[in-house]
Amino acid sequence: MEMRTEVASLGEFGLIDHLTRNNETRNAGTIVSVGDDAAVIDQFGRQSVITTDLLVEGIHFDLMYTPLKHLGYKAVVVNLSDLYAMMATPTQITVSIAISNKISVEALEEFYEGIYAACEKYNVDLIGGDTTSSKSGFVISITAIGEVAPDKYVKRSGAQKGDLICVTGDLGAAYLGLQLLEREKKIFLENPGVQPDLQQQTYLIGRILKPEPQAEVVEWLNEKGIMPTSMIDVSDGLSSELLHICKSSEVGCVIYEDKIPVHDDARNIAMQFGVSVTTCALSGGEDYELLFTVRQEDYETISRNVNISVIGYVTEKEEGASLITKSGNKHQITAQGWNAFA
Ligand code: ADP
Ligand code: MG
Repeated sequence: MEMRTEVASLGEFGLIDHLTRNNETRNAGTIVSVGDDAAVIDQFGRQSVITTDLLVEGIHFDLMYTPLKHLGYKAVVVNLSDLYAMMATPTQITVSIAISNKISVEALEEFYEGIYAACEKYNVDLIGGDTTSSKSGFVISITAIGEVAPDKYVKRSGAQKGDLICVTGDLGAAYLGLQLLEREKKIFLENPGVQPDLQQQTYLIGRILKPEPQAEVVEWLNEKGIMPTSMIDVSDGLSSELLHICKSSEVGCVIYEDKIPVHDDARNIAMQFGVSVTTCALSGGEDYELLFTVRQEDYETISRNVNISVIGYVTEKEEGASLITKSGNKHQITAQGWNAFA
């Protein structure tokens, strides 16, 4: 009998590992392949960085509360974020779409307004794509290309024992913004007369609907001559990204709950929802901040940037990945986040 393995039994990362376990590199120009935020190819000394992301209606976005202009903008941003996570500068994108008959030309024009807005803001050229129809909702595939000075890209794999773990901005807000939108959607579906009241929560809603990639931090690091030893963007939550760095770098880590940067609005809404804001930061995702490690000698410079928080340090692999809570307890970090009370 033929064997059948459910995709769910491997999970997303397990599946990618499985499908690419025998993937060979045949060209000398392929210098970073599967396993990082983006690939790096070298063409006679010029290095390009390439990444691609797929967004599917009903999985990654809900058109009930996602304005199409924001969707176009965000679809570009999530790709640029992966380029910045390699310390690359974005230069071009391609945009491919599969559209259902639910979507009009006017709707697509709005979607492209968002795409062009992101291109303008981040100085990127739209150079092509593909268009087809879909029977199961709107599908968006964007590929982004960037450039980097020879060998000045940063991988997930260079963290070393003693390095400091840094994160930009604040975490958990995008997840809480999504929870607010989901709550309002539910209320609206039950009582279509009721208008959503989200005026007070512009920060959290903005974080989920209109994220920005961390261009300024990358520029600042370059200016200061700080080369992080490893870097990843926070798309799936702090826990997941920390574990990626630990796995790729073959190290462990310790982070401190009270050092995780959280916005006041996130703290307040988390309290209202009765969830731990730390759990939102660890497991929420979609923050599009940068998580990176630097050598201890860079501490002084790093600490002068108010947009960067030092949240812990890199340890030996054997020590695993752990979180020291506010009360001083030590918890193992898992991909699902921190389930201290589970
Ligand atoms: P990110 O969240 O940074 O976009 P992913 O978790 O999507 O990264 O992907 C991790 C790595 O696996 C990347 O190097 C990506 O290019 C690669 N990858 C993802 N899906 C596939 C696939 N179906 N075939 C080959 N490589 C893949
Ligand atoms: Mg990434």
